[in-house]
Amino acid sequence: MYEGIADYLDIMRLAGVSEVKKDGRREPATVSPRVNHPAVTPAPPPSDVGGSFIPLQLPDGSKAKQLRYLAEEVAKCKRCKDLVEFRTQTVFGVGNPDSPLVFLGEAPGADEDKQGEPFVGRAGQLLTDIIEKGMKLRREDVYICNILRCRPPGNRNPMPDEAAHCRPFLDQTLEIIKPKFICCLGAVAAKNLLASEQTIGALRGKVWEYKEIKVICTYHPAYLLRNPSAKKDTWNDIQLLMREMEMV
Ligand code: URA
Repeated sequence: MYEGIADYLDIMRLAGVSEVKKDGRREPATVSPRVNHPAVTPAPPPSDVGGSFIPLQLPDGSKAKQLRYLAEEVAKCKRCKDLVEFRTQTVFGVGNPDSPLVFLGEAPGADEDKQGEPFVGRAGQLLTDIIEKGMKLRREDVYICNILRCRPPGNRNPMPDEAAHCRPFLDQTLEIIKPKFICCLGAVAAKNLLASEQTIGALRGKVWEYKEIKVICTYHPAYLLRNPSAKKDTWNDIQLLMREMEMV
């Protein structure tokens, strides 16, 4: 499974482990109830909002072409007054449209707003480490997007109406990609996607389902930067994800 002891130790470090027991004992696997969640009903779009009404009639062609078309519509969106006023640009998503795995974050931050790509700041670097050092995938092999396509001013949490306005864009993104797995990063992503009031602590460590897609929730990389001791929980969640994906 690991290419060598150095890789293994890298992964353990990533998981927040600073010492390894000689007898190599492992924690028991977590029980994973599968729960079906109803889709969130998005708010009907107001009439003067810019962009097309959604779900859009997508052009024929590859997933990449359909995502580009959707991204152009997102760029025209003016549904959320506050966000439109302060955004540099919309931040759609990045990665392999054929990936079976989508990482779902909260909303672009200042770096993402500047560069137009999700998860490019410090939290993004940690996410890249989780994907590359932890899962042994390349960042460009997975797809990464957010609940919101615009940066909330001052990095505040998305408002419920903003999440509702942006939801059809997320759902249409998922309909194009047709992933088999979603990994929700943090409470905002998990609670919004699953329409749940539970805490991220309660949602993590289990397998949920959204529109027949298996969903695993874990802590947001920005939270892990502030609370490194939670990295071992995230590593357990990522191992659960990898088992579900039959990568291990
Ligand atoms: N945090 C998020 O939730 N998404 C990003 O794209 C960057 C930081």
